[in-house]
Amino acid sequence: MKALHKRIKEEGQALSQNVLKVDSFLNHQVDPELMYEMGTYFRDYFKNHGITKVFTIESSGIAPAVMTAMQMNLPMVTLKKKTSKILNEDVYQTTVHSFTKSVDYELTLSKKYIKADDSILIIDDFLANGEAALGAARLVEAAGAKVAGIGIVIEKSFQPGRKALDNKGYDVYSLARIAKLEEGIVEFVE
Ligand code: 5GP
Repeated sequence: MKALHKRIKEEGQALSQNVLKVDSFLNHQVDPELMYEMGTYFRDYFKNHGITKVFTIESSGIAPAVMTAMQMNLPMVTLKKKTSKILNEDVYQTTVHSFTKSVDYELTLSKKYIKADDSILIIDDFLANGEAALGAARLVEAAGAKVAGIGIVIEKSFQPGRKALDNKGYDVYSLARIAKLEEGIVEFVE
């Protein structure tokens, strides 16, 4: 997605070889027009996948996910990051390791918002090791529902997440794919 590449080039800050900071349009301040355009890209790619709901992981996935859901005329569900296990039958939970915070959290979904016949599109802001997306997929599958696709805003293709999702057979579509990060340098996959 051309506009996203431009913004990453102009405003993204490679904090290290592993972490890209895009606080000015995605992770802190949000550019709604850019999010809207992301929604059109995800809608166009996934429009024939029979999607019934869009899922995301709080909090930075919410903006692109809600724009996608709006354009697909579908509900959007935010998976919550809880610090501890909830001891009741009303939720699905799975433990996920946070890439940026290096802690574990319990990704949580209320059983009210998924049915076995749902086909879910998972949207997230970044793909690094794939822990968050794989955790979201585990919750969908625990409900007997299908992961119909995974939409990523920024994929760091040099990290293991993309391969892990491909190996599971998921249809992954990323709006920007980064080949290499170095302080002050961002290179995209050709
Ligand atoms: P993964 O679970 O794939 O290892 O990491 C994805 C999650 O970690 C995303 O939901 C995102 O919040 C965060 N993340 C991973 N890499 C980056 C990064 O380079 N920059 C930012 N801002 N967040 C990242």
